[in-house]
Amino acid sequence: MNTAADPRDPARQERERRELKERLGRIRHKVIVLSGKGGVGKSTVAANLAVCLAESGRTAGLLDIDIHGPSIPRLMNLEGRPVEMAGETIFPVAYGEKLKVMSIGFLLRREQDAVIWRGPLKMSIIKQFLKDVEWGELDFLVIDSPPGTGDEPLSVCQLVEDADGAIVVATPQALALADVRKSINFCRKLGLRIIGVIENMSGFICPKCGELTEVFGSGGGEAMSAEMGVPFLGRIPIDAQVVKACDSGTPYLSVCRDTAAARAFRQAFQPVIDLGRRGAGEPGE
Ligand code: ADP
Repeated sequence: MNTAADPRDPARQERERRELKERLGRIRHKVIVLSGKGGVGKSTVAANLAVCLAESGRTAGLLDIDIHGPSIPRLMNLEGRPVEMAGETIFPVAYGEKLKVMSIGFLLRREQDAVIWRGPLKMSIIKQFLKDVEWGELDFLVIDSPPGTGDEPLSVCQLVEDADGAIVVATPQALALADVRKSINFCRKLGLRIIGVIENMSGFICPKCGELTEVFGSGGGEAMSAEMGVPFLGRIPIDAQVVKACDSGTPYLSVCRDTAAARAFRQAFQPVIDLGRRGAGEPGE
């Protein structure tokens, strides 16, 4: 038997660990975007954070490793984009001057392919994907993790050993269901710093009269963050333009600059932008 081809072979594991460290070591800041469950806007937050970083002059990578529902290709209008490979190395797709994108969705022939993966194969795919993408030097890598607190996000958080921290995305009703508490405890167990909680789809501002309607209640995210001693990054209102932007493959922040949701996104992302400031020796705000 060829042990080098066996993923459990200790020599192979050590080599892969070294390669992973080397690749990720060329990226100054790594931020993992987590959520207690799917559908709360995790990928929307990850994509817009990456765009916001690129717009602020940082070189950024957006890695979509949500193996059950990789939605970044759709959000960025990159569906079906061919991926360049050389041996085991995978090259990310350029998106403008400052941003590079890689999604596990680029490597699936059909969207349904992801759901049939068995446990151990999923873990090894996550690892290969983190290890084999050649980002080069970057200021930031934003990682769109699989949702929940199971084995898949666990693998991501364990493999990215020196992540700066996690952003936890939730909706007000999910907060009531204690999903966020689970995500926070998950990060704590792993020793992963929590950059903060974003409460997404929090209230609806009527585009005609500007009145705010609290569709799912309000204030839960802030209260829960305070109770658990983690920063609260802000509330993003429901905005039909977000859905439109997602569906048309244009990140919201590149088309909507001065709406309530755009301001809320930018404000929520400020602590991440500030990480780069400190890293680059610039004064913070
Ligand atoms: P997740 O990654 O958590 O599964 P997505 O980012 O794919 O969630 O978002 C799920 C859906 O919710 C998408 O259709 C997206 O356009 C929509 N969405 C996300 N945030 C908002 C918001 N603030 N306002 C309106 N729609 C939103």
